[in-house]
Amino acid sequence: MTRKFSKGPLIDGVKDIIAVASGKGGVGKSTTAVNLAVALANTCQLKVGLLDADIYGPSIPMMMKVSGKPEVSKEMKMVPIENYGVKCMSIGFLVEKDAPIVWRGPMVMSALEKMTRGVDWGNLDILVVDMPPGTGDAQLSISQRLQLSGALIVSTPQDIALIDARRGANMFRKVEVPILGLVENMSCFKCPNCGEQSYIFGHGGARRTADEMDMAFLGEIPLEMEIRRSSDEGSPLVFSEPDSAVSIAYNDVANKVVYRLAELTKERQGVQKFCCENMQALGRPGL
Ligand code: ADP
Repeated sequence: MTRKFSKGPLIDGVKDIIAVASGKGGVGKSTTAVNLAVALANTCQLKVGLLDADIYGPSIPMMMKVSGKPEVSKEMKMVPIENYGVKCMSIGFLVEKDAPIVWRGPMVMSALEKMTRGVDWGNLDILVVDMPPGTGDAQLSISQRLQLSGALIVSTPQDIALIDARRGANMFRKVEVPILGLVENMSCFKCPNCGEQSYIFGHGGARRTADEMDMAFLGEIPLEMEIRRSSDEGSPLVFSEPDSAVSIAYNDVANKVVYRLAELTKERQGVQKFCCENMQALGRPGL
């Protein structure tokens, strides 16, 4: 696929950048980003970074139990703060904890620039970006400027969230970012006393939406008190209870993401090879 949109330069040393996005706030995007990043680092044994681009509501410092001001390297870049094998950067490190973030477009973009290319990420296989919810200016600019390899959409199963998830998917399609797939969060609740399963936010809608929009369905994460508790404690479930059913579901999502990224790399290389051959046929070797 040829890209019509201008992109910023790649971040040095970072192979793939993926966005975790949702059309709506409160559907579990950050929780998914955190557990995905920890699964990619620990289960898939990759070098992983996590960028909290949710500038208006940064929650990564709490969910990853990372705090303090980042140190500055000799090259005058901020050094990410690491925990659970993941290098983290968040606007939450740079502003006072309870201060409102009332920035407008250009300030948002300059802050994001600092948190991406102004960071000493080292060599990373994957940088996971926790996007701000919605499909406004900030989301569009991030998608265009960060050279995303792909985007993963998180939604709850209810129609009102799925309508916004579709909007999110269409935004990525517009800027030609491949969609890695849809994750259904809070899919079902299993009563801890009697074991009965309740589909509080409905059932099957996310899988149907994924089919209708020609996206991969990456899995279902149940509504569980442990997920909420572990997030609040800053101890991602994938790390603290790696053998639980929920962690297995997150690991499955992580494996599918790695597989899809490998496929996309092959496709990209195929397109490059095809272009090189055509340029050679035209007597203009190389691109
Ligand atoms: P978003 O990033 O979409 O705004 P968050 O990840 O911050 O959403 O999640 C919102 C709240 O829901 C948090 O308190 C989080 O702990 C909780 N939460 C997210 N996913 C689940 C889940 N599957 N089960 C229980 N609680 C969840």
